[in-house]
Amino acid sequence: MKIAADHLFFGESETRAGRIVIENGLIVDLLEPGESDLDLGNALLCSGFVNAHIHLDLSIPPAKDHTPEDFGNWLGKVVESRRSLGPKGLSEAAARGIEECMASGTTAVFDIDPSGHSLQPLENSDLKRVIFREVISLTDEFEDQKSLLDFLGADFDPKKELRAISPHSPYTVSPMVMDRLLDLSKTLEKPWAIHVAESEWEEELLTSTSGPGADFLRQFETDPAAFHRGTSFIQSLVNQKKLSQLGLVIHGNHCSDEELDQMAKSGVPLVWCPSSHQYFRRPPHPAPEAHLKGVKVLLGTDGLISCGHLSMLQELRHARAAAKEISAHELWSMVTVNPRSWLNECGHGELLGSGRLEVGDPADLVAITIPKKTPAKNESVLETALQGSLLACWIDGRVTNSLAPNGPDQTPSEGDAP
Ligand SMILES: [Zn+2]
Repeated sequence: MKIAADHLFFGESETRAGRIVIENGLIVDLLEPGESDLDLGNALLCSGFVNAHIHLDLSIPPAKDHTPEDFGNWLGKVVESRRSLGPKGLSEAAARGIEECMASGTTAVFDIDPSGHSLQPLENSDLKRVIFREVISLTDEFEDQKSLLDFLGADFDPKKELRAISPHSPYTVSPMVMDRLLDLSKTLEKPWAIHVAESEWEEELLTSTSGPGADFLRQFETDPAAFHRGTSFIQSLVNQKKLSQLGLVIHGNHCSDEELDQMAKSGVPLVWCPSSHQYFRRPPHPAPEAHLKGVKVLLGTDGLISCGHLSMLQELRHARAAAKEISAHELWSMVTVNPRSWLNECGHGELLGSGRLEVGDPADLVAITIPKKTPAKNESVLETALQGSLLACWIDGRVTNSLAPNGPDQTPSEGDAP
């Protein structure tokens, strides 16, 4: 099959017109414009979106009339929500989340799952995934080691799935268990993802075992002193030589310039969740500084419970609104090239390919309309396309979202641009 479009995104600042040839689910050739089976016309065709941070089992709408409260309390409510949903409710939520992801052009997710409720719904879908098994362990006794090892060692299709480890955060996993999990990640060459510096009180807890983080731990009859590191989490990983490119820093809302420098040096990406960030009314995210320092920035939604939607196109628009200084080329890279090049660097490139529409990549693609508006002077196609809407999506060359019947111009707008 040959798909033509006026604008192919190869991960460069300029798009080019051309055709993609697909055979057996793979991109097998790239051609100059010409005859095709499907001509998308004035549309952007790029690698499918990767949502680099999601909790599929928390695909439940956020509370309406939300007023951001204490973050520790909010985490407590998440635990309650999971309990009241129960195993069936969590799996159903995951299934709904998968549907919503695929309906908005996402072809792969990095899912954080504490107890396996998204496994079956993912198995039933075409969505590609890195499933991070989340570990929470306030004590040095790590009781779930066997189930973690079973999860990591299970049989799964490496073309669809990769399994990995997510120690939840530096304040919910004891330093000793954290060490063991990071050692395991290294031994098994499995990536890790950790919520780091999500809350402003994390560093105070780790350096002086005081503040709201200490109160949070005391609620669970846990001695905050057990979490003392004497320095920030990133710095302590550097000191232990455990900050490696296998790692993914989720949020990093309060990472300092020095920590961002360390991440750049170690090849550790930063995952930015613009909508969820706004939900908690946090100060501006350090993504622009991180990008300038050479840290790869990836985009995620986080759970629907705090994000309110699961559309990466909306995240791109939120990111654009929050960081005008980041080029459109870089924004599109955050949802296509960057997550894939990180996987490549940690030895798992076969799952999602390059994100640059290279021969040999799986034909996981998304087509976005270019709105018919008069672009601002010198506005690039990539900038205009940020306001576009989903036209079609393919996983392994199979359509997962059918084309709008009357072509690009009739596609309803995705709405809600910030
Ligand atoms: Zn999260």
